[in-house]
Amino acid sequence: MTKTTAAVLRARGAPYALESVVLADPGPGQILVRIRACGICFTDIGVQTYEQGLPLPQVLGHEGAGEVLAVGPGVTSVVPGDHVVLSYASCGHCARCDDHAPQYCASFMALNYAGVLPDGKPPMQGADGPVYGAFFGQSSFATHAIAYERNTVKVDKDLGWDVLAPFGCGMQTGAGTVYNSLAPKPGSSIAVLGTGSVGLAALMAAVDLGCGPVIAVDRNAARLDLALELGATHSILADGRDLNAAIRAIVPDGLNHIVDTTGIGAVIRSGTEALTARGQLAMLAVTPPGTELTINSNILLGGRALRGAVEGDADPQVFIPELIARYRAGRFPHNRIITTYPFSAINEAVADMKAGKVIKPVLLMD
Ligand SMILES: [Zn+2]
Ligand SMILES: [Zn+2]
Repeated sequence: MTKTTAAVLRARGAPYALESVVLADPGPGQILVRIRACGICFTDIGVQTYEQGLPLPQVLGHEGAGEVLAVGPGVTSVVPGDHVVLSYASCGHCARCDDHAPQYCASFMALNYAGVLPDGKPPMQGADGPVYGAFFGQSSFATHAIAYERNTVKVDKDLGWDVLAPFGCGMQTGAGTVYNSLAPKPGSSIAVLGTGSVGLAALMAAVDLGCGPVIAVDRNAARLDLALELGATHSILADGRDLNAAIRAIVPDGLNHIVDTTGIGAVIRSGTEALTARGQLAMLAVTPPGTELTINSNILLGGRALRGAVEGDADPQVFIPELIARYRAGRFPHNRIITTYPFSAINEAVADMKAGKVIKPVLLMD
């Protein structure tokens, strides 16, 4: 048992409360990690805000980075003292895990959203009863977390905790959607709809791959200025203007690729209309249950594709080391979008993120 300080969500829509809880010992295949930093992702804010069936009280947080403190029976991939980045969990033995697509694991919901460890027990005990967790196989809004071998990625010890944490979800999701899902050829055109942290990660990947034009679209003019600094060739302010027309003013034949991070039906519809023949639009935003999407179906007959992707179609054990190498080479400067906060300021960090004041808040646990 480990005493840990965790940001506990006790009621839907409530702020987090920093509480002392007791964390279970790592079981077979499990790893106890001292969390040093954790990014905040809109998925955390979604669960905090909307009823999605997750049990409360719960500890969220799914972009943890830290140091291995102890390992459970059978763990061979890391040892105490290793520095690690935590990502989403997968089972490792279903058909899609076998096919190197753990992001579509048959047990994805059970391992990432059930609130309990595989033995069915909540991982933490608070002053007045059990506290749920195991969120994305971690629950890293805490000073300690239990993770699994498959979602614990060993990294070099010279990298800053703040830089490491967002690789586990947001950076993987945005960049992976470009590198893995769309895989554009150099010189092909691309637009990123919505330039929050995930959109800017997609944009940095497109710039790295030599795409052009690279068009950033957002309602926030300051974000567009940053997108241009990060290598976008054009920007479009989403102020109600016709998106398809604005894109075709730049690329008359339409775009080869689009990444949508907005999840807004009208935006996705305009995006599909702005694709050239054989163009592809990848959507990655989680939308409220029951959300429907309407498009002109004949659009797809031009060989165009509309598809979804989670976690950037990435296996974290393969992709996170690749992304770190690109960061080291100056090809993925995601440090430009990070703002750090002390762990105790988690509610302020969430408020600043929702208000658009910061792009990728990262909590520091020390
Ligand atoms: Zn699986
Ligand atoms: Zn996330």
